[in-house]
Amino acid sequence: MNLSDAELDRYARQIVLPQFGGIGQRKLKEARVAIVGAGGIGSAVIPALAGAGIGQLTIIDDDVVSIDNLHRQLIFRERDAGYSKADLALQVVNRINRFVVAKPVQQRITPENARELLSGHDLVIDGSDNFATRLAVSDACVGLGCSLLSAAAVQFQGQVALFRSRPCYRCFVGDAFDAEDCDNCAELGVLGALTATVGSFAALLAINLIAGVGDDQAGRLHLFDGQKLSWRTIGIPADPGCKVCGSA
Ligand SMILES: [Zn+2]
Repeated sequence: MNLSDAELDRYARQIVLPQFGGIGQRKLKEARVAIVGAGGIGSAVIPALAGAGIGQLTIIDDDVVSIDNLHRQLIFRERDAGYSKADLALQVVNRINRFVVAKPVQQRITPENARELLSGHDLVIDGSDNFATRLAVSDACVGLGCSLLSAAAVQFQGQVALFRSRPCYRCFVGDAFDAEDCDNCAELGVLGALTATVGSFAALLAINLIAGVGDDQAGRLHLFDGQKLSWRTIGIPADPGCKVCGSA
């Protein structure tokens, strides 16, 4: 897939990077990425991927903007309250980059529809706000053989991890979180600058992954402490008894 003169101009500052180059830019253009959740994490991921030139973005979110989202969901405005986040995120992408094809999906991901909604993508980025969705997304990604980049921020803690087949997200959190009524940031609180930090880290990891820059990050958990202001990285062991990836 070749780049037009207009694209070469637009992406000049990243194409000039020797590790990235025209090859990296073409890989971004050919990539199909699904983003689950246009919330705090999505507000950082969506503009970063659109600006960088990911060819196709699918934005999945069934929610509408509410006023108490606005401190962290920085792609939305006060006048957006009550409107679909997925549709508004499409407008954001279109304003940023005419070379990106974005598709909004105004649906909630469930174990029943996850596989259908996520198939056909090279990477899924999950920034959703509950464990039931995260586990449905993870199980579908394992079944589809699709890489999953999971990013979360709550209170002062952030985490980002890339999963490819095994270990999977379910190895990481276990089976206890399948219920719909788990904690999320509505109860626990979160700072807007934290979701932006963690979301930007996830976007960088995604762009590096797709462009082939840097080390393989699969199975590594990046943890951010928003009070100490430091990152650390640990390995995630595969669960020998994992009911999803253990038999894959
Ligand atoms: Zn697993």
